[in-house]
Amino acid sequence: MLGMTDGFVEAIGNTPLICLRRLSAATGCQILGKAEFMNPGGSVKDRAALGIVQQAEASGALVPGGTVVEGTAGNTGIGLAHICNAKGYRTLIVIPETQSQEKITLLRTLGAAVRTVPAVPYRDPNNYVKFSGRLAQELPGAVWANQFDNTANRDAHYTTTGPEIWEQTGGRVDAWVAATGTGGTYAGVARYLKEQNPAVRCVLADPHGSGLHAWFSTGAITISGSSVTEGIGNSRVTANLAGAPVDQAIRVDDQTALNTIYDLLWQEGLFMGGSVGINVAAAVQVAREMGAGHCIVTVLCDAGSRYQSRLFDAQWLSRRGLRQPRPQGQPQGRPRAARMA
Ligand code: PMP
Repeated sequence: MLGMTDGFVEAIGNTPLICLRRLSAATGCQILGKAEFMNPGGSVKDRAALGIVQQAEASGALVPGGTVVEGTAGNTGIGLAHICNAKGYRTLIVIPETQSQEKITLLRTLGAAVRTVPAVPYRDPNNYVKFSGRLAQELPGAVWANQFDNTANRDAHYTTTGPEIWEQTGGRVDAWVAATGTGGTYAGVARYLKEQNPAVRCVLADPHGSGLHAWFSTGAITISGSSVTEGIGNSRVTANLAGAPVDQAIRVDDQTALNTIYDLLWQEGLFMGGSVGINVAAAVQVAREMGAGHCIVTVLCDAGSRYQSRLFDAQWLSRRGLRQPRPQGQPQGRPRAARMA
């Protein structure tokens, strides 16, 4: 039957490419967002999680009743937990305690075993990624997803997201813009699109507090500032990102990202997470630089509901020196209670 899928796993991918109408009209370009928040697990990471699980199954490392262990900012763990439930595996997730409560609570609700750990730099042996690798080694029947350096992650985007974008745009895509966490989404799509047409401009968007913009611009990873966005930015070039084509890198600050996600909410009706603000703000910059008539594709990674207590809370934002945008043309402050008749 048309539109029917065989379970959760087959429902991953084939997401719509949403035209961001106001931003397209404002720039004279077509700015398109790949609607990854519409994956059944709610984020772009469903694709990577499935690619990693399928590879572990094919290699014989993961067998029924086995456990998938991962260190994650949340979305990969959420994707893995859904997929493992559907396929009869267990999940053990290590997550930095700085990540949103919404994601941590959701992981537990999905049935994953969750270990929260202090957020420490990658060089520290107790960094969440290294910690998860050690847990996987110690646990019988466990495999380590290792999303940062397991290129099954990038391959999932090379074989699905990239071809979908090429087909959905009829091959008319001029630029691809995305922030990177593991680099899987950016690199898999960039590699595929460049193979179809080497003229496609591949642009890496980066939040403050990440070293990748400096890596592209100067060749050395230096880090300054910080960001409230989650799941993006890195202090190293992962195996997934290594060798990916990068024509340009754009650094986006948090206030700009925040203004962008509120604009998406009020003007496009899209309730999006923080990394989408970085992506779409960078896509708008690329549209302005390239000029009218170009087709710019970026990713709508996950939904705002995963960050409601943070990015959509005025007090949480103001404690971090950020201003909650106000809808234009609407009164400020709390609405007055309606008078009873
Ligand atoms: N946005 C969000 C919200 C994420 O969770 C992630 C994954 N960590 C990304 C963007 C980046 O995706 P990738 O790991 O493929 O670079």
